[in-house]
Amino acid sequence: LDGARVPALVIGTGYGGAVAALRLAEAGVDVHMAEMGMAWDTPGSDGKIFANTIRPDVRSFWLRTRTRQPLSNFLGFPLDKDVPRHTGILDAEEFGGITVYQGRGVGGGSLVNGGMAVTPRREHFAAVLPTVDAAEMYGTYYPRANAGLGVSTIDPDWFETAECYQYARVGRKHAQRSGFPFVFVPDVYDWEYMKREQAGTATRSALAGEILYGNNHGKRSLQQTYLARAKATGRVTISPLHKVTSVAPAPGGGYTVTIDQISTSGDTVATKELTADKVFFAAGSVGTSKLLVKLRATGALPRLNGEIGKGWGDNGNVMCGRANHMWDATGALQSSIPTAGIDNWAAGGAFAEVAPLPTGIETYASFYLSITKNPHRAEFSWNTAAGRAELNWQTAWKQPSIDAAKTIFDKINAKEGTIYRTDLFGTYKIWGDHLTYHPLGGAVLGKATDGYGRLHGHPGLYVIDGALIPGNTSVNPFVTITALAERNIEKIIAADL
Ligand code: FAD
Repeated sequence: LDGARVPALVIGTGYGGAVAALRLAEAGVDVHMAEMGMAWDTPGSDGKIFANTIRPDVRSFWLRTRTRQPLSNFLGFPLDKDVPRHTGILDAEEFGGITVYQGRGVGGGSLVNGGMAVTPRREHFAAVLPTVDAAEMYGTYYPRANAGLGVSTIDPDWFETAECYQYARVGRKHAQRSGFPFVFVPDVYDWEYMKREQAGTATRSALAGEILYGNNHGKRSLQQTYLARAKATGRVTISPLHKVTSVAPAPGGGYTVTIDQISTSGDTVATKELTADKVFFAAGSVGTSKLLVKLRATGALPRLNGEIGKGWGDNGNVMCGRANHMWDATGALQSSIPTAGIDNWAAGGAFAEVAPLPTGIETYASFYLSITKNPHRAEFSWNTAAGRAELNWQTAWKQPSIDAAKTIFDKINAKEGTIYRTDLFGTYKIWGDHLTYHPLGGAVLGKATDGYGRLHGHPGLYVIDGALIPGNTSVNPFVTITALAERNIEKIIAADL
């Protein structure tokens, strides 16, 4: 790798990166991918590649000495514990006003996410990506993305009887009694496999609480879909535990890319330099934004424009739980893959997933992740003295999200005679308003880049991940990230190669 010249370098192996690598390789271009996380292809001492949510271990968190679980408390007990510092799979990256959860490893967010694969309603698309032709997206690129990701919906008959979705049926009953539209949410999980988990004829994964730290079976991450196809072309190579730190114009054309190879304890073991004709930033909204604000401020890429770092949003994520009556048990066995949601976007600005609480015991709790129409947008900037990128999001900016979520849950509580849980995010705290799973923006399409992700000022540099999307997708984001990447790479291959 050191000293090599490559036609295309892709930074990161999440959705945007995987689409770029596959389509470039199919067009005959050799691609190298640098990924700061691990490969996640080798079982640990327990015979499993990924750790369980009930027992987080060394594999669970990215370079922390104490876990930072999204659900920090239960029945008055704090859940976090000490772990050895290791390049684990889930990064809880802390900025001043928000903790941003991200996947680390070959497959990016697809390793740790719920696999909920939701295409926004077409009437909301103009607000999601105002500069993109909706007819093209819904006619060509959303279908292409859904097919490439292996998206499907739960068998509705099985849903009615499956023990592991009792929590979702209780969620439906409460939503419908309050007059809210209830929808099935598609997913990339293999539903036939889940049926066998429930029947006891396959090793349990979704039904064993596997999700945040990876699924050992059943979930189709990018490792099984886009990245498998990319590798099968024979033109794509991937270097795990390789973190890109700089990109700058090379004297003879192209770009010099500086990459730190790191150990599993996070120490730099080698620094490498290669030259790439084209560089695709696919390090995720946060990773791409952090790199670009640094490269502009330090003069490595001086012609990047003033939009770099701007337009960042949290997709309006906010969580809450409700305490049900004893006759509304949600079940001790809960599938970790959510499959249903309450759509109050048009009336109240909230789309709430009925989420699992896979504790293994009956909790009488209903738990929700809401995606809301939050108008606040933050900006990344480079702090020269501290040598790090900062984000100016403020915790108080979650208030519009809480208000939107309350349009659903205040009404349900009133109808059911129930109350919010106050024990899940601390002591006497109702709202999980300190985090996001859905970082979006920082190099917005049509602002920091042209209409197809070409960075202004430096030909041959592209953004092709969630950084392009201006802060909100009205539903879970990865299908939109994938579809936009499909659209952009098609244009780039046709026009720039
Ligand atoms: P990512 O998938 O984040 O990939 C970026 C990659 O780049 C990462 O692998 C990272 O390690 C690597 N990288 C970063 N910086 C560097 C660097 N300097 N050098 C080398 N590599 C680098 N979305 C949904 O649609 N449905 C869901 O059900 C859902 N659930 C989620 C649950 C959790 C717990 C989390 C964390 C996210 C969830 N998401 C979900 C969000 C979704 O996973 C992300 O929106 C998506 O992964 C973003 O795709 P991306 O291509 O922009 O970047």
